[in-house]
Amino acid sequence: ARRTVRVELADRSYDILIGPGLIAAAGREIASRLKGRKIAVITDENVAPIYLDNFLAALKVEGIDAVSLVLPAGEKTKSFEHLISVCDSVLAARIERNDAVVALGGGVIGDLTGFAAGIARRGSRFIQVPTSLLAQVDSSVGGKTGINSPHGKNLIGVFHQPDLVLADTDVLDTLSPREFRAGYAEVAKYGLIDKPDFFAWLEQNWQAVFAGGDARIEAIATSCQAKADVVAADERENGQRALLNLGHTFGHALEAATQYDSARLVHGEGVSIGMVLAHQFSTRMNLCSPDDGKRVEKHLREVGLPTSMDEIPGGLPPAEVLMDAIAQDKKVKGGKLTFILTRGVGQSFVADDVPQSEVVAFLKEKL
Ligand code: NAD
Ligand code: ZN
Repeated sequence: ARRTVRVELADRSYDILIGPGLIAAAGREIASRLKGRKIAVITDENVAPIYLDNFLAALKVEGIDAVSLVLPAGEKTKSFEHLISVCDSVLAARIERNDAVVALGGGVIGDLTGFAAGIARRGSRFIQVPTSLLAQVDSSVGGKTGINSPHGKNLIGVFHQPDLVLADTDVLDTLSPREFRAGYAEVAKYGLIDKPDFFAWLEQNWQAVFAGGDARIEAIATSCQAKADVVAADERENGQRALLNLGHTFGHALEAATQYDSARLVHGEGVSIGMVLAHQFSTRMNLCSPDDGKRVEKHLREVGLPTSMDEIPGGLPPAEVLMDAIAQDKKVKGGKLTFILTRGVGQSFVADDVPQSEVVAFLKEKL
């Protein structure tokens, strides 16, 4: 049951293949699309012992030569230091115009490797082999790449679209339940942005999505299609692409407030809490019925995601400090900020005139 989603951009397009067995089939899929016969594979220390040998073997059968680089796992790997090592290994492998750089891993490896591929030799071919649910439904699609700075997350990077995305749904079986749930927050996000029927389907079928099989493939394909549509309409985020940030303004502030410490909070968990807050804040702004917020909260809690700030271990700073983190993440003009608000499940929109004072008052109530 393999699915293909095509990302149609102004100047070119690429396929996202979704389904079981794609690591084993990677050699064939890559060889049929790539003129070159050399590949640099970048992965992390958790993914490498489980999947790297199989992936390299699949390439070798098709006569593709590969070198690999295994980096430490975790958000701290999205750094200048590791960007240098990835660029060095790409150049040392003499990856040329028709060859490719492959990211085999979660969003951390994808963002870092994509950035290196975007700048090495002024842009090398790039293939995403996302292995986390979050990477399969979100970060591997759309071409945003980058690393973190002491000034904030993802502040240094380039747009560099992949040439192919291979999402092997079998590999999600080895992902920790916590990381799977975190990725699921982004799946639910697509329903909450503008697909109320998809959200209702998830409410009915989430257990099957977690179990694997066709429901999982369906949920991933629907998510990729949703992201592909938004990216095709607004590749460089001049407008509607910002909708993908539903729940992320609060979420990023919570990630910053917990020092990106994955023991306390991972990205998808911050997004889960952030999406509930976005609905509650929209209710406060008289846009959204409180029942919609309750419905969102109920579903996310049911799958095991955190839905309120008091579930974050270790305590949080006061509302003003969280507001500072929000102001770092979003442009504030004359005390107003851009925020993704909602009129209800599946009715999100970009508001660019949200008073900062309202956000602070809301956070004070919630903390
Ligand atoms: P991650 O890459 O850290 O992966 C999560 C953990 O799971 C890691 O420990 C990893 O080693 C492990 N792992 C991955 N696949 C596995 C598998 N199949 N089996 C066992 N373990 C596995 O984190 P993530 O959640 O995949 O991605 C988060 C990153 O993605 C953040 O840095 C975020 O900023 C970025 N992101 C980027 C975009 C974008 O558009 N570029 C979008 C959303 C998120
Ligand atoms: Zn996200």
